[in-house]
Amino acid sequence: MSKPVVFISEPINPLGLEILAPYCHCIAPWLDGGIAGEIPEEATAIMVRTYPVTADRMDAVANLQVVAKHGVGIDNIDVEAATARAIPVLWTPEANADAVAQHALALTLGLANQLLRAEKALRAGQFLDRLEFASTELTGRVLGIIGLGRIGKRVARRATVGLGMEVIAYDPYVDESDLAAHVDSLGELMSRADVVSLHVPLTEETRRFINASTLAQMKPGAFLINTSRGGVIDEPALALALDQGALAGAGLDVYADEPPTPDHPFLSAPRVLLTPHVAGLSDQALVRVATEAAEGILDVLNGHRPASPVNPQVLENAG
Ligand code: NAD
Repeated sequence: MSKPVVFISEPINPLGLEILAPYCHCIAPWLDGGIAGEIPEEATAIMVRTYPVTADRMDAVANLQVVAKHGVGIDNIDVEAATARAIPVLWTPEANADAVAQHALALTLGLANQLLRAEKALRAGQFLDRLEFASTELTGRVLGIIGLGRIGKRVARRATVGLGMEVIAYDPYVDESDLAAHVDSLGELMSRADVVSLHVPLTEETRRFINASTLAQMKPGAFLINTSRGGVIDEPALALALDQGALAGAGLDVYADEPPTPDHPFLSAPRVLLTPHVAGLSDQALVRVATEAAEGILDVLNGHRPASPVNPQVLENAG
């Protein structure tokens, strides 16, 4: 019997391929320097990073049995359509949470200590400009976390223990926790926080919920950090707020459209620290994400229950 075909749309750690290779035929266009086109018709499983998995794409594949997200942000997968077609969608919810939390704090520290400006000055021979690069001391300052889930909680713990920050959180869907003092409204969080860090999924409710009116509530000395999804921010409104000095700076890893175009307003905005969607890409996370996604695919193909289904009802219906 021929091996089941697994389509892997984007690069993954080789250990993920090693797990699949004995049992599956992997089609991975990036291994030969190519980019992913449509899902091959013969695929029974697909593993994706940001590759869009639409209803049409699923319908074009006769025997698709599982969609595995390499990561956690599933806004590129039409989960409702997969569920309607009884296709399990898997994800790796804990695998890169530590990495993203670390990156959110790296962006915070980079802004607070003006690392890029100071380094640039040094390299330009302007050592004596150092008095311009006084840092914003974070100890005792308020960190406002929006979305107190897996990543938000890790950020809260590290900021409290490691940096001595006071942590408040806005998340109407989680109960009180001892990691943060909960606030009842987004407005209260925006107006109290010295650092606002976003950790929500992109949904219809969160799309552009950081906009001109919520930005206007921020303290002029505050920083905004986004390692969640670009679509959560109204980007032109943030660029304008930065231009006008309505906040002290922004540390951003994600963009509404990726990659951002060369004329994207963030690229010329003042006081921004930008990274190219790398928050989840630590050495350890890349191994965990690839191996967990690969193991999940094998579980489904072998009729076993996978560890992390997004739509478990599909598996329950399958008995
Ligand atoms: P999670 O589901 O554990 O936590 C998200 C939290 O947001 C939940 O507690 C939820 O209740 C809360 N939430 C939902 N809607 C909200 C709203 N309207 N207002 C306030 N809170 C709301 O998810 P997670 O694992 O912590 O990941 C968060 C997001 O980070 C992911 O959805 C993903 O988009 C993003 N992410 C980015 C990277 C990266 O490389 N930059 C990597 C991993 C995850």
